Amino acid sequence: MLLTTRQLFEKCYGRYAIPAVNVFFMEEIHGLFAAAQEANAPFIVQTTPFARDYAHADMLLSMIAAAARIYPQVTYAIHMDHGYEAHIFDAIEKGGYTSVMIDASHDDFDKNVARTKAVVAAAHAKGISVEAELGVLAGVEDDLTVDAEHSFYTNPQQVVDFVHATDCDSLAIAVGTSHGAYKFSGGQGLQFHILEEIQRRLPGFPLVLHGGSNVVPEVIERINAAGGQLKTDAKGVQEEEVRKAIPLGICKINIATDTRLLWTMVNREFFRDRPEEFAPTTPGKIFMEEYKQFMLKKFDLFGCTGKAGDFSA
Ligand SMILES: [Zn+2]
Repeated sequence: MLLTTRQLFEKCYGRYAIPAVNVFFMEEIHGLFAAAQEANAPFIVQTTPFARDYAHADMLLSMIAAAARIYPQVTYAIHMDHGYEAHIFDAIEKGGYTSVMIDASHDDFDKNVARTKAVVAAAHAKGISVEAELGVLAGVEDDLTVDAEHSFYTNPQQVVDFVHATDCDSLAIAVGTSHGAYKFSGGQGLQFHILEEIQRRLPGFPLVLHGGSNVVPEVIERINAAGGQLKTDAKGVQEEEVRKAIPLGICKINIATDTRLLWTMVNREFFRDRPEEFAPTTPGKIFMEEYKQFMLKKFDLFGCTGKAGDFSA
């Protein structure tokens, strides 16, 4: 069942979070849909500008549509992650997405409001949900790099005004996460006092956590043991932090880095251990199964295993 993110958040708020998974290629889409069907868990499949540049939006949406036929029991939304006006208005016109993000967080407050409002008006006219962003995350997402000194936490005092002025359906907030594999190098962790303050001012409003990967040290070690050279001091969002953030209104947690690390680990180990192999489909099969197992664990952690039943017609 294809839903909007707004429909998903109406049921999950305060109870569980929905993983929003960035996909770039076919094996990930199989792994994601297979896991969701097995776990009976709702999810959000999403595409970044980089993914659309790489594979083409039509290719990604066509693969997602095929996956929905192959795994017919899934409950999900299709979301455009980090959209900009050109992509968003095109997508609203052509269809395919049930939810879009307008990322105007690098603009000042008034300009962010104006850009978000324009997207909301067009999207809502077609029944599409809108995620906006307030506050700036550090890190690397696609080709956009934000230094720590140019990032800033979401100001809870601005959140109410922003949401009322824009009528957005959910809000991505900056509360200590960052994009990319090198999160929390300073060890600061999630800023729960900001999250609590936002929820106090805006109870019931769905919040989104970008940069929600866990960056498991064991995965980094295995990649490096198979020839990788990744920094070992990186730390992602810890499982305890996820559990604590959900009752505070985090409804959507974006995952991209963890699945890229998984791909790197599977392929590096495969070609190290089986140097005579050259068929992409052999490690591809291993990756799909590992990806599925990875997602089953995420569904458990986020509390959404079995929750697709919340949305039965
Ligand atoms: Zn993001």
